[in-house]
Amino acid sequence: MHAQLQSIYEALGITSEHVTKNKLLACEQPLLAELEVVDIDFEGKPFILLSAAARAWREMVRAADEDEIMLKPFSGFRSYLHQKSLIERHLKNGRPLDNILTHIAIPGFSEHHSGRAVDIHEAGHPVLEEEFERTSAFAWLSENATRFGFRLSYPRGNDQGIIYEPWHWYFYGWSDLTGHALAQALQNNSRKTAFW
Ligand SMILES: [Zn+2]
Repeated sequence: MHAQLQSIYEALGITSEHVTKNKLLACEQPLLAELEVVDIDFEGKPFILLSAAARAWREMVRAADEDEIMLKPFSGFRSYLHQKSLIERHLKNGRPLDNILTHIAIPGFSEHHSGRAVDIHEAGHPVLEEEFERTSAFAWLSENATRFGFRLSYPRGNDQGIIYEPWHWYFYGWSDLTGHALAQALQNNSRKTAFW
């Protein structure tokens, strides 16, 4: 195992059982050179993505904008250490680790490590809340995101053991789309656009 992850697990009390029970896929951090600062979010934090995902994100934001929908990023690339600090914050508030891990991925297993995941919000609505599914941004994404290679990672009742996250979208890219997602993407691809 990655030495840094090993020490993070020790610090947080994450056991090999947690890791084995976990249904998420391991996600590696890209090289720094593969990452790009795309925007500054409303908290003033840099919003960073993998370059290919950044290109697709910009295309998607532009298309949404043409439909008068504002897609606001909240969180993109996140390092293993940042993931650790998110869990630590909840531990300090006295929340049990097993409960935290239904909301926050074990470091090394968050899609945000890959630089391909985006948390999206709509101005005037709370961030990272299920309520996002009632926004016009979510309606637009449900209809259009696959055209840009993005899809919802954790739908309601997902079998990865993660709560429903209507705000969390992952960039697969055309080459990675398979089966149903590909069929859906082709069906939705009324506007032919080459991305990468
Ligand atoms: Zn997310």
